[in-house]
Amino acid sequence: MNDFSLHFFVIKHKSKSTIMGSVKFVADHMLGKLAKYLRFMGYDVFYPDGKMSDEDIISIAKKEGRIILTRDKELAKISGGVYIEGDDFRVQLRQVVKQFNLDMSNALTRCSICNAVLEEVKDKSIVKGRVPDYVYSTHSEFYICPKCGRIYWWGTHTEKIENTLRNVLEMENGGKHEN
Ligand SMILES: [Zn+2]
Repeated sequence: MNDFSLHFFVIKHKSKSTIMGSVKFVADHMLGKLAKYLRFMGYDVFYPDGKMSDEDIISIAKKEGRIILTRDKELAKISGGVYIEGDDFRVQLRQVVKQFNLDMSNALTRCSICNAVLEEVKDKSIVKGRVPDYVYSTHSEFYICPKCGRIYWWGTHTEKIENTLRNVLEMENGGKHEN
């Protein structure tokens, strides 16, 4: 069952048409959790496996039209990127959401691990044996990451993520944090 624990989330609505035109980001290595939550919101975020040089980050941003999100004031300054102020990912997320007017319309449509847009599984039998039996028998909609092959479905984990996102988006400056 452990193998499946990462896979516990899924899509609700699929307005994928807007994904392509959305703002894209590259996050520095200090911002893993922020990157993950922006992906949960459906936004395209490049996040390096290891530490990348500032030059590499700048070059990816230029090449792919991405906005740099960084905890490094100097890098933000020389690249025209965004200096992320808080340590807490919720504060960071709130900053980015406000600055770029992000919304939840494509929430949970992207693989949080590798950033690819999820695809709906047309034939349910494909996921048989790849998800826990009780999930297979109680769910009819599944989604797959075309890059890493992870299977996703709507479940308690997804609800948690959605709640966290909603809390962050509704949070007043200096307001209370949940979790
Ligand atoms: Zn993936």
